[in-house]
Amino acid sequence: MNKTLIFLAYILFLGCKEQTKPIADISVTDTKNEKVEKPSETFGIVIHGGAGTILKKNMTPEKEAAYKAKLEEAIKVGHTILKNGGTSLDAVQKTINILEDSPLFNAGKGAVFTNTGKNELDASIMDGSNLDAGAVAGVTTVKNPINLAREVMINSPHVMLSGAGAEQFATERNLKIVDPTYFYTEDRFKSLERVKEKEKIATKTTAFYDPMIKDAKFGTVGCAALDKNGNLAAGTSTGGMTNKKWNRIGDAPIIGAGTYANNATCAVSSTGWGEYFIRAMVAHDISALMEYKGLSLQEAATLVIQKKVPDLGGDGGIVAIDHKGNVAMEFNTAGMYRATMNTEGEIKIGIYKTQE
Ligand code: ASP
Repeated sequence: MNKTLIFLAYILFLGCKEQTKPIADISVTDTKNEKVEKPSETFGIVIHGGAGTILKKNMTPEKEAAYKAKLEEAIKVGHTILKNGGTSLDAVQKTINILEDSPLFNAGKGAVFTNTGKNELDASIMDGSNLDAGAVAGVTTVKNPINLAREVMINSPHVMLSGAGAEQFATERNLKIVDPTYFYTEDRFKSLERVKEKEKIATKTTAFYDPMIKDAKFGTVGCAALDKNGNLAAGTSTGGMTNKKWNRIGDAPIIGAGTYANNATCAVSSTGWGEYFIRAMVAHDISALMEYKGLSLQEAATLVIQKKVPDLGGDGGIVAIDHKGNVAMEFNTAGMYRATMNTEGEIKIGIYKTQE
């Protein structure tokens, strides 16, 4: 065999070695002294309830306490599932359900209003173990859109359904259907009226800087989780933006923009100005920076949220967890409702950018 062939065989050998590298990061020696892969006991969960101009001076102590309590209730649901050996997909879905059922967040019950006074909901979910995904856009009668997204992923040959077809599928799958009036909340309706008033007198430039009009875009909920088997999942659910027109769809149901999960890298859920998050492919970009450039989760999240998105003119944030349980909660707005819990059960809840 000549030298070139030996060299090529060696390169091939190295390549194969690289591919068998454990994803779960933990390998133990069994009784026969052979190396076997065992699932890691590490797990973790991180959630957001939207990013925006959330300032302490505009918050009452009661309101702040209500947000923190709901974030805590939601994350504990997911954490318990993970602690008991449940899947990251279940943790993501059930955690988001709590936030969807609360009028505090712009998802499910607290969804914002469209320009014509309706509520059109978007959601998506992704399974990092096989890159399977499901998404729905513009549904008006499905109580928990994240459940429908998961149904699309599991029980349909498609990835994304919208409008009337998505609702028909929801009925066929026996999901909870509600009258559209279920989504009415006085607060959100008043926001619509205020934004419309502002819009009447705003020029293109003042509209861009008006916090009321700008923040008409925020308030989504999302979750990313790692289970004990090393599987990552992420999900996002939203009412979109107040005063949205023409069946506008944001980033939340777009796989790669609002939601992404890949066991080899991380799971991400976004919240922010959807138009920019779609253009920057935020969630997938963070994963790709880890996969192709070797960045850590925090480095990738910082680059995308503090540079790429604002360079385009957008704002918002993400929550993410990597396959080792590291968490990122990165945002470029004044605040982001957020919480995280780790294997040890330590909980961190935050609202503002500066120390709480
Ligand atoms: N990203 C969502 C959208 O543009 C809004 C949000 O995150 O609050 O629809």
